Amino acid sequence: MINRDRLTGLFLDMCRVNTPARKEKVLVDIIQPQLEALGLTCVRDKANVNTGGDCGNLIATLPANMPGATPIFFSSHFDTVEPNPNLIVVIEDGLIRTDGTSILGADDKGGMAPIIEAVRVITENDIPHGEIQLLLTVSEEIGLLGAHHIDRSLISAGMGFVLDTGPPVGTVVFTAPTQDTLDITITGRPAHAGFEPEKGISAIQVIARAIERMKLGRIDAETTANVGIIQGGQATNIVCPEVKVRAEARSRDGMKLRNQVQHMMDTLHEAAGEFGATVDVKINHMYDTYRLTENDEVVRIAQTAARSLNLETGLREAGGGSDANVFNAMGIPTCVLGTGMRNIHTHQECIHIDDLVRSAEWVVAIAKVAANSA
Ligand SMILES: [Zn+2]
Repeated sequence: MINRDRLTGLFLDMCRVNTPARKEKVLVDIIQPQLEALGLTCVRDKANVNTGGDCGNLIATLPANMPGATPIFFSSHFDTVEPNPNLIVVIEDGLIRTDGTSILGADDKGGMAPIIEAVRVITENDIPHGEIQLLLTVSEEIGLLGAHHIDRSLISAGMGFVLDTGPPVGTVVFTAPTQDTLDITITGRPAHAGFEPEKGISAIQVIARAIERMKLGRIDAETTANVGIIQGGQATNIVCPEVKVRAEARSRDGMKLRNQVQHMMDTLHEAAGEFGATVDVKINHMYDTYRLTENDEVVRIAQTAARSLNLETGLREAGGGSDANVFNAMGIPTCVLGTGMRNIHTHQECIHIDDLVRSAEWVVAIAKVAANSA
């Protein structure tokens, strides 16, 4: 039923449009008329007022052709982790990748193209379905910004499926962590490093001591922490007066996250105190954890649909957030579906055409199962 060539063509067309975060309009302008031609009502919300981007989220709605069926949504994001204006696509034995000089954009066009092909198949074949919404978001890669600012009043679906994680197709992500980021400023005191170093307080020494005592990496099965950026210093002959540091902590357990963040703060304050420096920490709460089970209808529908296609289905815990964190926090049960995207956020990113097709088949199957589970 899925048109393999049409789907592959759409995917490649989408990858060839350069859409880093905040610059998605060029692709939204291409996709919206295609969805409207299929009979979907399209609205762009005003999320870009808050994201600073050139376009809001695209919310497209296909009315039900069967009364009483459960309304559902499928979601993916327009933006890619970095720009790829000079994309060169290489296709070998059905595997689509780049020449190694840029990302491909399968994250998340490898989720979006199958959704659109599936909607085409559903409308072409007049497959019975409830209301289907597509929540196609912007600026996901820079902190789920589009989803955070989506116009909730436009969402009527009662549950959702986000196509935005790696293979195998058939896998259902049922939980993801909460994430906090820490913006840290250590303030010491400048001094000439050769003439009178005793008058200075080195912010670099402070952060070094703090990090040495900080539990980082994998803290436990549910919790991780990382110091990702350190910036500071101007010259070897100046005792460094200021260092800016960015760190993060994630956990699927709220208490463990709070404990880890507190530990990081304590370590920083302790080290600062020892040197007579000051420390300022801004904690940004990026997104909240969620936890579904096999008994939740949204998971059950995804797995039943996968089994109907003989896809191996399993549950997976995610180590990172996605738009599903935001939709779950809004009270809409949402799981994440495994797609074909591999090696994402690297220049070795690739996706197999077979997986694009499987994803589209899975979306059609989910729409069918949802329609029958009313
Ligand atoms: Zn993604």
